[in-house]
Amino acid sequence: MQKILVTGGLGYIGSHTVVELQAAGYDVVVVDNLNNSKEEVKTRIEEISGKSFELQLADVNDSVALESLFKKHTFDGVIHFAGLKSIGESVDKPIEYYDSNVGGSFILAGVMREFKCKTLIFSSSATVYDDTQKLPLTETSKIGNTKNPYGTSKYIIEKILMDLAKFDNRWSLRIARYFNPISNHSSGIIKENTKNIPNNLIPYILKVAQKKLKILKVFGGNYKTKDGTCIRDYIHVMDLAEGHVAMLKNNRLKKGLKVYNFGTGIGSSVLEVIKT
Ligand code: NAD
Repeated sequence: MQKILVTGGLGYIGSHTVVELQAAGYDVVVVDNLNNSKEEVKTRIEEISGKSFELQLADVNDSVALESLFKKHTFDGVIHFAGLKSIGESVDKPIEYYDSNVGGSFILAGVMREFKCKTLIFSSSATVYDDTQKLPLTETSKIGNTKNPYGTSKYIIEKILMDLAKFDNRWSLRIARYFNPISNHSSGIIKENTKNIPNNLIPYILKVAQKKLKILKVFGGNYKTKDGTCIRDYIHVMDLAEGHVAMLKNNRLKKGLKVYNFGTGIGSSVLEVIKT
């Protein structure tokens, strides 16, 4: 049985992916610092899958904790979800974002190299694409010209991984650029942790529907779109989770670096999503 380390495995996308990994027969170990999740998510995942997994409460910046985990287990690969993800917050806290995202990835890759584990799937974002170019965005579209510390942190990590692949051909590196993950597992017991004011449209709509927030503000009505509101490409989080398992299966065979976009290629406007 292959053993996979999942960083940030108690978070939104991580928890759904752990469910899919367990269903596909992988043995999973999770490292998470609970920065944006709760320990009870572990029990919920286990309730869905009927299988237990080891959880190490630690920061990915903590090389000592990571080394002790790699000493204890032989990992066949790592899926790296851990990191900070709010664009707005990153503008106020750039140091924290570079430290957690860039620093954490750097430390993790170093420990992986030390223990000769060279299969890594990295959670990136469509925000790394230069948004001045024509749509649709494909994996070969230009990246860079990022607009905030969050996007830049993902861009820097991608560049580090690209260099790694160039100079050491034993690595199997996969960069997954997500568009807008939504929804949750059909059990309804694992979901996105949205704190008080959600950053994303759908959690916001749900809070208004549940009367936890009064109104939803639509920012901008004169974009060059069919109804004037902003368009995003939404993808179901279970499709994302399945995609990670598929990458892992495929990844085992091939060395080098590959990039995958995770979207549907179909955009929905803010008003369309609200109506739906
Ligand atoms: P999330 O916040 O729900 O999950 C991240 C998990 O990582 C949390 O459990 C958190 O406690 C943990 N974590 C954060 N920093 C850590 C650290 N330094 N050490 C250990 N654990 C840490 O986020 P998510 O929505 O599941 O996103 C997962 C990844 O996907 C992130 O890297 C994010 O940037 C990327 N991504 C997310 C979206 C999205 O809309 N959700 C879009 C594009 C990319």
